[in-house]
Amino acid sequence: MGLNKIQFASDNYSGICPQAVQSMIEANRDFSLAYGEDSYTQKVCDLFRKIFETDCEIFFVFNGTAANALALASLCQSYHSIICHETAHIETNECGAPEFASNGSKILLAKGQNGKLDAGEVEKIITRRSDIHYPKPKVISLTQATELGTVYTPGELQAIRDVACKYDLKLHMDGARFANALVFLNLTPAELTWKAGIDVLCLGGVKNGLAVGEAVVFFNKDQARDFAYRCKQAGQLASKMRYLSTPWLGLLGHDVWKKNAAHANKMARYLKTELDKINGVKIKFPVEANAVFADMPDSVVSGLRAAGWRFYNFIGVGGARLMCSWATTKQSIDFFLKDVKKHLD
Ligand SMILES: *Cc1c(COP(=O)(O)O)cnc(C)c1O
Repeated sequence: MGLNKIQFASDNYSGICPQAVQSMIEANRDFSLAYGEDSYTQKVCDLFRKIFETDCEIFFVFNGTAANALALASLCQSYHSIICHETAHIETNECGAPEFASNGSKILLAKGQNGKLDAGEVEKIITRRSDIHYPKPKVISLTQATELGTVYTPGELQAIRDVACKYDLKLHMDGARFANALVFLNLTPAELTWKAGIDVLCLGGVKNGLAVGEAVVFFNKDQARDFAYRCKQAGQLASKMRYLSTPWLGLLGHDVWKKNAAHANKMARYLKTELDKINGVKIKFPVEANAVFADMPDSVVSGLRAAGWRFYNFIGVGGARLMCSWATTKQSIDFFLKDVKKHLD
């Protein structure tokens, strides 16, 4: 995908990884049952169960907003509330979809360093009120890896789990970049989810190398009851489901998802290391997954933009957000760094 100047704007600017394309082609040989009744979808679900080492329920939807909104709605009644970090995607980038899907469950915002929920802050929100006039806290939603490119450690997850257990709350994980966290921590998918008390995981496929589609993984099967109806009603049940599900075979098979994520993380680390060497550039957060947030002088930002480079600066708390993906090359990073240095002079 070469040295184009738009690639650092988002990890979803990358294309489809070859293994996912190959799986899609293999699913395209013949007629097949529709709406997820097909053997490919069965095979993918079995692979999920093997990888997560448990008998979980899996649903495939078109995107992450739908995955989060429908998963959260399944955990809440309309009078409940969902606690998340103030920079969480469900709060800042889903146009109110979780509230819409849940008929009005309210999102309550908690603070915490580096995009991570602080267990103490969460507990403060839960215990602030207990009267009938306050939307009853029911779910804690955390993003792993976070919107700021950081990763919750097992200890931090445990602290949040303790609060959830203490007050009988459910745990939702927005895993749009789950694989990036997984390889950073070098844990198993089970250790990072149900063994850590997570009830529902929204597992991202697109940023990791799929064309379309995220998976909603319920570790508590009771919680998944009627979820298929919810998907259908929301327009999220694919009739040719096999094309949404089968590419996961390419991604999850032979650890491709982990390799893709490890590559993206490695590229982000390289970009961070090189930016660190440049006077006038400041890295804002620990680089643990595949995002680098950098403060650069305005003249550099405008110079880069004028030269055609694209990156967001509205995510989190400002600064240029530079994303790496499975397709990012060292050469393209060097190309970018050269332009940064040019505009500093
Ligand atoms: C990209 C992303 C999603 C999914 O967004 P869609 O555009 O709806 O697919 C969800 N959560 C996080 C943290 C994301 O970065």
